[in-house]
Amino acid sequence: MAFKLPDLPYAHDALEPYIDKATMEVHHGKHHSTYTANLNKIIGGTDLENKTIEEIFANISGQSTALRNNSGGFYNHSLFWSVMSPNGGGQPTGELSDAINSDLTSFDNFKEQFTQAAATRFGSGWAWLIVQDGKLVVTSTPNQDCPLMDNAEVKGIPILVLDVWEHAYYLKYQNRRPDYIAAWWNVVNWDEVAKRYAIARNLQAVN
Ligand code: MN
Repeated sequence: MAFKLPDLPYAHDALEPYIDKATMEVHHGKHHSTYTANLNKIIGGTDLENKTIEEIFANISGQSTALRNNSGGFYNHSLFWSVMSPNGGGQPTGELSDAINSDLTSFDNFKEQFTQAAATRFGSGWAWLIVQDGKLVVTSTPNQDCPLMDNAEVKGIPILVLDVWEHAYYLKYQNRRPDYIAAWWNVVNWDEVAKRYAIARNLQAVN
């Protein structure tokens, strides 16, 4: 039961001009594809083969660095594609908007916090909006780490993520990470983030 590279939910050029076609082709077709293949190679023939990615993350601290990096690379990119859309941008509405206002003061404050987390993550990593004990929290992780991993510094259920590895922006933006982050807000798929928020809230309400 191998993990499968998900298809992009839009064409490679659909996020232009904010994220360019060449970056999307290499990012999905080479980087994400390689993480997925390596993940399958590592778990093949082991007792992890039939586990979900969440189950693997729940005990990742006892596993190899290679598994940590490749399972994270598989999951993080799958989430990243899904929270972007050519019809994205703007602001969330409804429950998610209310939660941002109550947990993070305001949309502008949230946007500033998230931008800061993405801009100041040194080296390679990710910026996240997660649900932690029912509340929204902004955080970042190094490398391919994910807030669902048992050894994450800040844990929670991810609902929005931004890849700040150089491979995510260097072809178009070179060293200008802040320009990439600013452009990315135009493609955030708030409908998808809102769906994920509702699911995460339900999960944490039961536990
Ligand atoms: Mn990436």
